[in-house]
Amino acid sequence: MHLSKKIKPFNYCPACGSSDISFGDMKKVRCRDCSFTYYHNVAAAVAAILEYDEKVVLIKRAKEPCKGKLDLPGGFVDPKESAEEAIKREIREELKIDVKELEYLGSYPNIYKYEDVLYHTCDLFFYSKIDALPTDFDKKEIEDLILTNPLEIPDDKIAFESVKMGLGMFKSSKFHVKHEAQ
Ligand SMILES: [Zn+2]
Repeated sequence: MHLSKKIKPFNYCPACGSSDISFGDMKKVRCRDCSFTYYHNVAAAVAAILEYDEKVVLIKRAKEPCKGKLDLPGGFVDPKESAEEAIKREIREELKIDVKELEYLGSYPNIYKYEDVLYHTCDLFFYSKIDALPTDFDKKEIEDLILTNPLEIPDDKIAFESVKMGLGMFKSSKFHVKHEAQ
C-alpha cells in the first residue's frame, strides 16, 4: 500500500510544527527537526459473540466507519480497564444488558479508519450464551439488532476483517462442532 500522508496520525510535529516527520513500522512518528517521538501503538479492542437460541446477535452499524454493515457488540478498551471489564461495559452501553459469564475465544488484528486516521487494533473476542434478547440498544451507535445463524452471514456484509475472522473461528469451532455433534 502506498504510504500517503493521510495514514500518518498527524502531518505536522505536535511539538515544533515541522512537516519533516517520519513514520516507521506503521507506528513510530519522529520529527527530524526536534526529535519529538510518538508511538502510534496498537489499540486493544473487544468484541462479543452472544449466542441466543442457536443464533448470534449482530449489530448494524449506525456510524462510520462501515456504516450499515454488520458488526459485533464491542469497542475500544479504555485506559486503566481490563479487556473483561471493557467487553462487559460495551455490552451494557450498547445492548443495555449485563453479561456475567464470558469465555475468551482468541484475537485478530484489525485496521480501523476514523476521520482519515488509521488505527491498528488487536481485537479480543469473547463468547457468551444469553438467555434473553436485548429489548433496547444504543441508537447512536446501532441502527438495528440482527439475530442470525452465523453460518448464513455473507462475508461482504460484515464490517471488519477481524470480525469475519472471529465469527469464522466461532463457526469452525464451538458452534459448528456442537451442532455437527448433535
Ligand atoms: Zn518537531
